[in-house]
Amino acid sequence: ALSDASPEISDSLQVLHRVFGYSSFRGEQEQIIEQVAGGGDALVLMPTGGGKSLCYQIPALVREGTGIVISPLIALMQDQVDALTALGVRAGFLNSTQDPYERQAVEQAFLADELDLLYLAPERLRTEGTQRLLDRGKVSLFAIDEAHCVAQWGHDFRPDYLALSMLHERWPKVPRIALTATATEATHAEIAKRLGLEDARHFVASFDRPNIQYRIAAKDKPLAQLLELIRSEHDGDAGVVYCLSRASVEKTAAFLVEQGIDAVAYHAGMDARTRAANQARFLREDGVVVVATIAFGMGIDKPDVRFVAHLDLPKSVEGYYQETGRAGRDGEPATAWLAYGLQDVVQQRKLIDGSEGDENHRRSLAAHLDAMLALCETVDCRRVRLLAYFGQSGEPCGNCDTCLTPAESWDGTVAAQKLLSTVWRLARERRQKFGAGQIIDILQGKKTAKVIQFDHDALSVFGVGADLSTGEWRGVVRQLLALGLLAVEGDYGTLVLTDASGEVLGGRRTVQMRKEKAPAASRKKDSG
Ligand code: ADP
Ligand code: ZN
Repeated sequence: ALSDASPEISDSLQVLHRVFGYSSFRGEQEQIIEQVAGGGDALVLMPTGGGKSLCYQIPALVREGTGIVISPLIALMQDQVDALTALGVRAGFLNSTQDPYERQAVEQAFLADELDLLYLAPERLRTEGTQRLLDRGKVSLFAIDEAHCVAQWGHDFRPDYLALSMLHERWPKVPRIALTATATEATHAEIAKRLGLEDARHFVASFDRPNIQYRIAAKDKPLAQLLELIRSEHDGDAGVVYCLSRASVEKTAAFLVEQGIDAVAYHAGMDARTRAANQARFLREDGVVVVATIAFGMGIDKPDVRFVAHLDLPKSVEGYYQETGRAGRDGEPATAWLAYGLQDVVQQRKLIDGSEGDENHRRSLAAHLDAMLALCETVDCRRVRLLAYFGQSGEPCGNCDTCLTPAESWDGTVAAQKLLSTVWRLARERRQKFGAGQIIDILQGKKTAKVIQFDHDALSVFGVGADLSTGEWRGVVRQLLALGLLAVEGDYGTLVLTDASGEVLGGRRTVQMRKEKAPAASRKKDSG
């Protein structure tokens, strides 16, 4: 006999105990499950590792019929279904990796109401055949996983996701739950709009991952820095190392293997078999380090990843947050370490300038990059800045590099003026474009061949910056770029002034800078 308490809740709790073996719900899981099990729509923003899967798996088990899970992660469907099957949940998937016979068996099981969960790739839903199949069976709910893939200017856009707006039109009575670990206000709003979930209940969890220690270091010798991180803090730990290009993935993996570290490579250009084998080793064995492009990791559930290292600057804070979020899903301490240098800024700018799409698109990419640069150059708590980016507030955390070793700041106004006026003088020449290297050589008064060739030793600014080391000058350039007081242009990383540069040159604006942590032997104080 049912008590008059809400039946969904007691059923859900029972399923949590019996099927999944957990004692209690986490965070807002219970309210989310209640909403969907009761036939309502939900939009769930929850960080990686927060426990999104149960939010649709339990309603699917409680409700009659089959829960349809739309996921772009075809490579993981088999694993997900295996894991559910092991728990006694009746699950299947339909995607392009199956032969017609396998597919038919799954379809039969669905039609016979013998499946609790059916995973579908988004492109399958667009076919008339699949839509008719769903009409003939009994659908308990639609779960749209990785829902941020519908956001057009987001970092994982999938055109097939746009078609998911038809779910509600075609099956208006079936509840929908969209889930994502991407949480900016803009993405949130775009998901709601594109999927027609404005009237759904929205659940926004805290995005803080207190066990992750965020650290952003100046890039010096990245491979040696990475090796030092692994040897001194993460010997024998599982980790992910992200690189921008396939070539640097290969190079980095080979380097680590040479150094005796159990590392494997992963990128989209590898043959499918090796790639799958490498992923499987990382997932199933202990202490494997995977070196990968960002193609790796979405949806990967490996709880004991102890570190995520970035050897190149991520394109956006969202990307950074998602990628670092793969560390420490078990709640134990983990490290998110990023090495970033001037060259990263130049390279990313180049990618943006050369990217497809219209001016708006490029502007959006540039805004994302700027936010990432601001996070790198902040003297405040990284976590506070990260959460602020997602519209959430917090206190300085005590578990990030700026909290642990507060960045000293200095008045960089004069240094900025020297640098900006050098850029201005060179721009006036118009003969040739120059990058940061030449400008720093001029400031430091170095008579290199290129300095002599262009008579740059005759400039009035020649040698006026001899009081700062090359590393410090590169820091000045990076910070001016991050502040929008300087910009890079073109293929060779030419430095150019911005509208705001004039405020500094004209003495109307001062510039506080963070001190470079790299040791400089005899460093004179900037005397102003
Ligand atoms: P997400 O999809 O949000 O990244 P998952 O659904 O994969 O997160 O859950 C992350 C981990 O937390 C999984 O190992 C999952 O089994 C576990 N988990 C989820 N909910 C609970 C809970 N209520 N109690 C204990 N463990 C949970
Ligand atoms: Zn902090």
